[in-house]
Amino acid sequence: MTAPAQSEYAARWWAPLRDGRLECRLCPRHCKLSAGQRGFCFVRQNVGGRMILTTYGRSSGFCIDPIEKKPLHHFHPGTSVLSFGTAGCNLGCRFCQNWNISKARKFDRLADEALPETIAAAARRFGCRSVAFTYNDPVIFAEYAMDVADACREAGVAAVAVTAGYMTEDSRPEFYRHMDAANVDLKGFTEEFYHRNCYGALAPVLDTLKFLRHETSVWFEVTTLLIPGENDSEAELERASDWFAAQLGPDVPWHFTAFHPDYKMRDKPPTSPATLTRARTIARAKGLRYVYTGNVHDHEGNSTWCPRCGQRVIERDWYVLAKWKLKQNRCAACDFGIAGHFDAQYGNWGARCVPIRLNWILPPKSPQQVCS
Ligand code: SF4
Repeated sequence: MTAPAQSEYAARWWAPLRDGRLECRLCPRHCKLSAGQRGFCFVRQNVGGRMILTTYGRSSGFCIDPIEKKPLHHFHPGTSVLSFGTAGCNLGCRFCQNWNISKARKFDRLADEALPETIAAAARRFGCRSVAFTYNDPVIFAEYAMDVADACREAGVAAVAVTAGYMTEDSRPEFYRHMDAANVDLKGFTEEFYHRNCYGALAPVLDTLKFLRHETSVWFEVTTLLIPGENDSEAELERASDWFAAQLGPDVPWHFTAFHPDYKMRDKPPTSPATLTRARTIARAKGLRYVYTGNVHDHEGNSTWCPRCGQRVIERDWYVLAKWKLKQNRCAACDFGIAGHFDAQYGNWGARCVPIRLNWILPPKSPQQVCS
């Protein structure tokens, strides 16, 4: 198949400098680009004195996933989400779990041309409750993501951003005006971790989380990938939990997920289930109500519990939902209101991850097509 040509879509959030370069103000890197040069993310480029988003309308492929995979546990549980990404990233995480997409330097990773209306129509046709910008960070293709989100809203489909939250106060308000939900990575809780392992900074991510909590109605959840010996010490988890409780409050769900060795970090062991459980215990002890373990089978840590009476209101095993003890968003036993967006019954998508082209479902690689 021939890869689609790069787009020449006029980008936002930039300004010309006196020396003739263009400064990108979309993310905290503030790349200053000479003629023809691309930013750190590789997808924004100075072309003839204008900033261009080279991946508008280009996708690295589509898959229908469970919403629990994003992970979002309080946003229409059990429903399916049409997921896609583009290419490039504005962080340089040594432990990236999607590096073949995020570090793509060629457009040969971009298999599908997909305009916003086409994506929204496909989501409707396949019965997806939402569309997710995932696999790589939607911040770097913000204009495209916002247009897809608008088309989805028109079609009654929600828009979900899966992001590291590494953006500026210039771009944050507009981007999130178009989103219905988000999962934001909090990759560690020290500047040193972000600097050494992500080639980035912690402070803008904390600003994004505070912004979401205090200045938007976007439903959001937070994910921390725990890496043995890097960001899983008791002291760091205590400090992160204190900040989380004070700045975001008790109702924002927090997912602790298991690392596996990948990309440039192959010298660390996989995260043990005991480490995930320890992190969950620390966060819950600080008063956080909805703390989860992820990427493991953990009946207790995967499930949602009523903070008042202790009833298991949603029983999960990884991405599979088993029991539902909610009346809409209230605990069926004690009527406590569970934070989030819930339907009368949970969806029945299960654990399937089904790759699609926008017009047809691809032949299955395995009979069940279960997410790993
Ligand atoms: S979005 Fe890309 S070009 Fe813009 S500042 Fe960030 S890394 Fe640089």
